[in-house]
Amino acid sequence: MITTAIFPGRYVQGAGAIAHSLAEEILRLGSKALVLEDPVVNQKLGEKLDGALKGKIDYQVEIFNSECSDEEIERISALAKSYGAEVIVGVGGGKTLDTAKATGASLKRPVVIVPTLASTDAPCSSLVVIYTPQGQFKRYLMIPRNPDVVLVDSAVIAEAPVRFLLSGIGDALATWFEAEDCRIKLAGNMTGRPGPMTAFGLARLCFDTLLKYGVQAKNACEQQKVTPALEHVIEANTLLSGLGFESGGLAAAHAIHNGLTVLPQTHRYWHGEKVTFGTLAMLMLTDRDPELINTVYRFCLDLGLPTTLADIGLENVSDAELLKAAEASCQPGETMHNEPYEVTPASVLAAMRAADAEGRRLKALR
Ligand SMILES: [Zn+2]
Repeated sequence: MITTAIFPGRYVQGAGAIAHSLAEEILRLGSKALVLEDPVVNQKLGEKLDGALKGKIDYQVEIFNSECSDEEIERISALAKSYGAEVIVGVGGGKTLDTAKATGASLKRPVVIVPTLASTDAPCSSLVVIYTPQGQFKRYLMIPRNPDVVLVDSAVIAEAPVRFLLSGIGDALATWFEAEDCRIKLAGNMTGRPGPMTAFGLARLCFDTLLKYGVQAKNACEQQKVTPALEHVIEANTLLSGLGFESGGLAAAHAIHNGLTVLPQTHRYWHGEKVTFGTLAMLMLTDRDPELINTVYRFCLDLGLPTTLADIGLENVSDAELLKAAEASCQPGETMHNEPYEVTPASVLAAMRAADAEGRRLKALR
């Protein structure tokens, strides 16, 4: 058996990391950079970024146009080329970062990623989601190399609304369960090959870190303060979960998330929020130990993460509607098929109902 794991080239994290280390990290890769910024990031962090880079490297700032589309990737690539950029830097949320990754890949230039939220585990990965200019999902793109540098300024993460951090915790909560089922099944990770034991060990550390520090991290973020607990959870959300999902593999939780997106009522809820419910349903689907299930529910309730269908916009949802989501989660090619258990749309529907019932029962006791 041939196993494979993939990693970003370097991971830098800490309060003040932008001011302290960004220029140095870019300079290791080249002296001329195109810096792609979210419009919001440009407004809030533009000065901080200029302060960190001015006089140290040559750079040009470009504002991201709001969709990671083939058209936008072409536009940024043309700009970077005519500027003679040796390094592509992306600063902002998922779509800005994905555009920077895809631009770097198309020009064969190194990429520096600066996430300003800890809301998903995408920053470290080689996965890019391409949308149409209108914002509809178009396709996935696996770039040949993970980002050369991922740099997270914890003070920036602490200043973002806490819902982003919580959503990232929800996304990261799925990592160990999904990686574990892939390990048992010898299923492929994002490279198509099974992951090595390193990936499964990191996925487990991700879960343990969330359980240990999640509540304290949420408190710190609500106060917009950086504490060691918040640092641990930012690392779990961004690095551990990123390595865990990409090199461990995805399974039922993300398949159920994808299935839920066929129901328009769920659209105003974020990726990590729906993944949280997908994880709870996965625990029911895969016959996890009741004590472990209880631990995960208590954790979600303590943090205010979704535990019921109503929490993701599906109050009064019918079995017929839920079955559509369940069927979508079992489509050919879905990561549901990485489960070592027999799964059918009917068993997924039952698991979602069971997860919701347990969430409602525990909420009533509080
Ligand atoms: Zn995810």
